[in-house]
Amino acid sequence: MTAFLAIALSALAMTLIVGIRYLLSSGGFALATRLTRPGLYTGLDRQIVKEIRWSLYSAAIYGIPAGIVAWGWQNRGWTAIYTDIHAYPLWYLPLSVLLYLAAHDTWFYWTHRWMHWPRLFRIAHAVHHASRPPTAWAAMAFHPIEALTGAIVIPLLVFAIPIHVAALGIVLTIMTVMGVTNHMGWEVFPRFIWDGPLGRWVITASHHQRHHERYGCNYGLYFRFWDRLCGTDGGLGSFAGRPRAPLSAQAGRGADRGQPVAGGGSGH
Ligand SMILES: [Zn+2]
Ligand SMILES: [Zn+2]
Repeated sequence: MTAFLAIALSALAMTLIVGIRYLLSSGGFALATRLTRPGLYTGLDRQIVKEIRWSLYSAAIYGIPAGIVAWGWQNRGWTAIYTDIHAYPLWYLPLSVLLYLAAHDTWFYWTHRWMHWPRLFRIAHAVHHASRPPTAWAAMAFHPIEALTGAIVIPLLVFAIPIHVAALGIVLTIMTVMGVTNHMGWEVFPRFIWDGPLGRWVITASHHQRHHERYGCNYGLYFRFWDRLCGTDGGLGSFAGRPRAPLSAQAGRGADRGQPVAGGGSGH
């Protein structure tokens, strides 16, 4: 098999993996939403179809660089990914995960702020904000330009920062889960996480919810570090009373939509 064909197959396989991972993770959390907060996504069917379509395009954009790098790792010894757990001290395992999250967060914060520059927003980022309010399906609902800015991060970092393959799996799992849960419309984490000391530094749904409400604040991905440092932290948003559906779809629905209010307990 020629190298070109092998790389193409690797990119295709990665695209399928990313696409299936998206469908399972977003689908799983959408199902959890339906079971625990019935009606939360009522009236959003057309929006959800668009979220899924954009997300599947994004899966290809994420899959191609990942597939190329995975091929190079397997066949050419590219990257600083290691498989021998003792190649580095064990304490480096959690540190490497933190380094990846911090680097990704930094990249995300600045590219995200950049994409809120009005001219660029219309081209590259309006797609993501067209979800009002976002749902679990919006996790990868990005315009291809925005998807590309996200897709290159991990494939570049694996050349720069050594990481065990299992630690990389943890990074990708955190990336996937936070991408979905931050858009889901409710807090999946216990209140002490997002409303306690940890929540002052770690981003969960309540924080990203405010970004989707106000646009001009809360640009971070995992941590509030850059938002706090740069004065763009707008605090935590609330899930109470946010517009979720056309009025016609809301008719006949009680005021209590079964959502936790930020600071209002664990929900129903
Ligand atoms: Zn978002
Ligand atoms: Zn934004």
